[in-house]
Amino acid sequence: MKIKLVKTKNPRRVPKTLRKKSREVKEISPDILGLINEMRDIMQKNKGVGISAIQVGVPLRIMVVESCQENFVLINPEIIKLGKEKIPFREGCLSFPGCYSQILRPEKVKLKAKNLEWKDIEIEADGLIGRCFQHEIDHMNGIVFIDHLKDLRDLEKEPEKKRKNE
Ligand code: ZN
Repeated sequence: MKIKLVKTKNPRRVPKTLRKKSREVKEISPDILGLINEMRDIMQKNKGVGISAIQVGVPLRIMVVESCQENFVLINPEIIKLGKEKIPFREGCLSFPGCYSQILRPEKVKLKAKNLEWKDIEIEADGLIGRCFQHEIDHMNGIVFIDHLKDLRDLEKEPEKKRKNE
């Protein structure tokens, strides 16, 4: 498998791949484990917090999320509950390097998913992780974070130099 990050510098031209709907994973195979490792490598190299398989061109419902506190690999995740209260949070995306914006989403989310041992798990999250889960599940449905903006002019663009020091 040739794995590469799907990205664009022009948020007005969303790569077609990112509009694909991802399929459910049927079972864990060596190929799937290899894919997950490559996703993690690409995410860490680009200093991301989360990545979905479609962002490396593979339309499967897999996400890797890593913060300083917790690490997750979630397969076939589904939102089972969203908090009522929505709050703004500054989001970025590995597929849109240098672009950031405040996005309004529910603060709390509850998910069910399979883990790497193919067990059913349920997770409740808020803060950065809760935000990331919602962002990555959007990717699986062909939605990108800038779709939540009314006006693309609300996007902040950061110069390359500053980004490298993040
Ligand atoms: Zn993203």
